[in-house]
Amino acid sequence: MSKILEVKNLNIGFNLADGFRQAIYDVNFSLEKGETLAIVGESGCGKTVSTMSILQLLPPGAQIKSGEIIYNGQNLLGFNQKQMQQIRGKKIALIPQDPMTSLNPLYTIGNQLLEVIELHQGLKGKEAVEVAIKALERVKIPDAKEKMKAYPHEFSGGMKQRVIIAMALACNAEIIIADEPTTALDVTVQAQIMEILREIKEKYNISIILITHDLGIVAQNADKIAVMYAGRIVEYASNAQLFNAPKHPYTKALLNVILDINTDTVQTIEGHPPSITDDISGCPFHPRCKDCMEICIQNDPCLKPVGASMAACHLYD
Ligand code: SF4
Repeated sequence: MSKILEVKNLNIGFNLADGFRQAIYDVNFSLEKGETLAIVGESGCGKTVSTMSILQLLPPGAQIKSGEIIYNGQNLLGFNQKQMQQIRGKKIALIPQDPMTSLNPLYTIGNQLLEVIELHQGLKGKEAVEVAIKALERVKIPDAKEKMKAYPHEFSGGMKQRVIIAMALACNAEIIIADEPTTALDVTVQAQIMEILREIKEKYNISIILITHDLGIVAQNADKIAVMYAGRIVEYASNAQLFNAPKHPYTKALLNVILDINTDTVQTIEGHPPSITDDISGCPFHPRCKDCMEICIQNDPCLKPVGASMAACHLYD
């Protein structure tokens, strides 16, 4: 496998009323061709901000302080908006949580697909229509030619999400960022969407960044995993390492939540993740950690190799 994307020492903050507040701390991860990287953690841990920076789609007030995002050898952080238009949708596509926010209710599915194909592939007329129909067929939309005439409201949530995936396929995107792609869907439709993503990854060697808080989906789909907490990657490991031998107490606590669901007793992680406005001293997980030591209150641990994984925890000093 060859490396297609590398995020290096990424630091991002927000300009708030009381000044600049750091949200993402020294985040590093990489993505190989045909690989699925899952980024997991509770809400507000920095998963979405880290990944939206790849597309320069950060919310107002956000500021990238330092770092590099290397895509096929070029630093995307040095790209202007015109250059980014050649990347967004065409090379790196986004599948959002709620497809209704991406599909325009006033235009047919066909119109919206053809617009994307014309913009990114430069195709028109019959040729563009053929590419659009083929893309819909690839995501298993039945009767694709007829469905081109349908409006988004005629599609279920799962079908709309398939259309978004079809747009990425029609443009030959190399990377798909799937931001909680199944959160708004019921369980059976979730499984179908994840199966389509697995299939296109294998068939077309597409790389996927999967943002989720669902470790069940991660276990079935990810090759490697970055666990985020308070804007930091606290564990970075292969699927087998993370699920068989988790290192960080936060990862272990997350895994216990799903394990207890299986035995019918739901155990949550006590406390809450810190907010961006909290002043953190030491390890940001220390107020919730059962293994907390004196040093944890003073020093923020950095990510370092622990066996075959990487973890940021003083237990391994
Ligand atoms: Fe827990 Fe300390 Fe490790 Fe933080 S550094 S996760 S507080 S043991």
